[in-house]
Amino acid sequence: MIATDLRSGVERLGDLIAEAKTIVPFTGAGISTECGIPDFRSPGGLWTRNRPIPFEEFVASQDARDESWRRRFAMEPTFAAARPGRGHRALASLYRAGKIPAIITQNIDNLHQASGFATDHVIELHGNTTYARCIGCGQAYDLPWVRQRFDEAGAAPDCTVCDEPVKTATISFGQAMPEDAMRRAGELARHCDLFLAIGSSLVVWPAAGFPLLAKNGGARLVIINNEPTEQDDIADLVIRYDIGETLGPFVGN
Ligand code: NAD
Repeated sequence: MIATDLRSGVERLGDLIAEAKTIVPFTGAGISTECGIPDFRSPGGLWTRNRPIPFEEFVASQDARDESWRRRFAMEPTFAAARPGRGHRALASLYRAGKIPAIITQNIDNLHQASGFATDHVIELHGNTTYARCIGCGQAYDLPWVRQRFDEAGAAPDCTVCDEPVKTATISFGQAMPEDAMRRAGELARHCDLFLAIGSSLVVWPAAGFPLLAKNGGARLVIINNEPTEQDDIADLVIRYDIGETLGPFVGN
């Protein structure tokens, strides 16, 4: 069912939330646009400006690594200034109320943690861009460490432990998905009774498989996104309005 107006959509969502015992949200870039972080595919989104650098290219080429880090540093003022929006805060309220055991996200911006979710309860399918890791041994680095070395040498640094390249702790195209996160996300999707897909175009696989998995497992599915998605047909409720406007009424204390 597609909500014909925002008010009836919010009302129906409120009923579904009240009836549910276990809610699992699945979020994409759309929940963070009101926080000033552009999404990928909307007009003005990141991909309309920069072609993504596949993992293979990052590994093979120092130039690609330098370019990747230059882009990341250019985004730093945006990521550093971003604070949780109404969508993040509404979900954090439901988490505190015990309705949400954990959240699955495609986002890399750390805003669910900033809104109050425990780190262990944020299942990050595409990693986290607010710190870095060695792609060889996994050693973690903070961004100022990378920045300082980049500025000194004019090139992206390698790991001090094993000499392999250091990359933001995100999953690039062509990079293996994190096994533990995928397993936990699958379990959450299968064992909830309400699944909320929020702000995702649902075109990036395998992440986009989780709403389907939840639906097949018997959960009700709600899609909140301002443009149509390929899974609207199987959803119990589709709200094609702004996420902040839709979830704002659910921000609690
Ligand atoms: P996407 O860009 O493909 O889709 C975002 C969707 O949200 C679009 O359909 C857009 O119309 C909708 N949207 C944007 N603002 C909205 C709003 N205020 N209200 C309602 N809908 C809104 O993003 P995706 O599905 O998350 O997948 C792409 C990849 O982008 C993910 O892998 C993610 O890692 C990465 N990404 C993350 C961030 C972030 O962490 N904030 C930002 C950009 C891209």
